[in-house]
Amino acid sequence: MSGGRSPGRDGVSIVVPVYNESATLEEFASRTLAAARSMQRPFELVLVDDGSRDGTTERLLALAAEHPREVVAVILNRNYGQHSAIMCGFAKARGEIVVTLDADLQNPPEEIPRLVAAMDEGADVVGTVRMNRQDSVFRKLASRTVNAVARKVTGVAMRDYGCMLRAYRRNVVEAMLSCREKSTFIPVLANSFARHAVEIEVAHAERAAGESKYSLFKLVNLQFDLLTSMTTTPLRLMTWFGAGIAMLGIGFGAALLALRLLAEPQWWERFSEGGVFTMFAILFVFVGFQFMAMGLLGEYLGRVFHDVRNRPRYFVHEVAGEGLSATANPRFEAARFTPTEADLASESSTTTP
Ligand code: UDP
Ligand code: MG
Repeated sequence: MSGGRSPGRDGVSIVVPVYNESATLEEFASRTLAAARSMQRPFELVLVDDGSRDGTTERLLALAAEHPREVVAVILNRNYGQHSAIMCGFAKARGEIVVTLDADLQNPPEEIPRLVAAMDEGADVVGTVRMNRQDSVFRKLASRTVNAVARKVTGVAMRDYGCMLRAYRRNVVEAMLSCREKSTFIPVLANSFARHAVEIEVAHAERAAGESKYSLFKLVNLQFDLLTSMTTTPLRLMTWFGAGIAMLGIGFGAALLALRLLAEPQWWERFSEGGVFTMFAILFVFVGFQFMAMGLLGEYLGRVFHDVRNRPRYFVHEVAGEGLSATANPRFEAARFTPTEADLASESSTTTP
């Protein structure tokens, strides 16, 4: 697809969200840099520190100081979550091809050249399937449901949305950056802009050190991000579900009335005595469902609230290293705006609403 090998057209940006990964950071950086150098084309490694508190920040800054042409360290002021950190990395990245992966060495950095090769063959998005993934039946069923919904919404069939070792073309990255919603699930978002998405199989390793940065709470939240970013169908299903229950209730009431009027009195007494607790049980089930439905409404409402408030998705505290960015990316600069005297002067002369 691409013609000549100029830095702008050929460059690869490797974007990595890093949160408390000091144990494996050195190994990760050396393996990733080795893999990137082996491609023999311009590249940059954009490491986004997502509010780490275990010394990761200092190590990232040291890495950027050591390899300023290859490593960019972007330090966020606090923890914003994996996907927001990747978005920040996207805004900073300057390469034509942008690769994402996790810092915990679960995605082998040695696979990066294969992803880039698949992009060179003309793909917009390259996803990966984890080969030796050992998961429970329930977990796999959940994955299959997610994939089916995602396929309906984006029109792109992919087998594995959980694996973050992925590559995106610049136009897709720009499209994602132009999306203003705060809760995003990047693989799904990317596929909605992809024209030619492919999937390759990669190895998957156990976490080398430390533990998953996803607590149960964060994991549930991420699943809701995935759901709400894809579809509002659950809201509609609730209406249907409620209507179904209401119909059942009406039928049940009518049956009780008929029993009362038609059945033998002593039969009715026996029924109503034993029936009270059954009624409670049924009632509790429905009350439970109602609360769940309200919770689901709340998940959507909360996200709408965040988007209406329109605060920045992240705030960059510090940047070290240059990478490919001889020229600054206006989108990235906008997120770390610090007014200069010239800005202040021009602001007073123009009236912005
Ligand atoms: N991560 C992050 N911010 C977070 C949680 C995770 O930047 O709030 C990073 C983390 O450092 C890693 C990647 O996202 O590079 C995936 O996280 P993790 O390995 O904990 O997730 P899992 O593999 O358990 O899904
Ligand atoms: Mg992991």
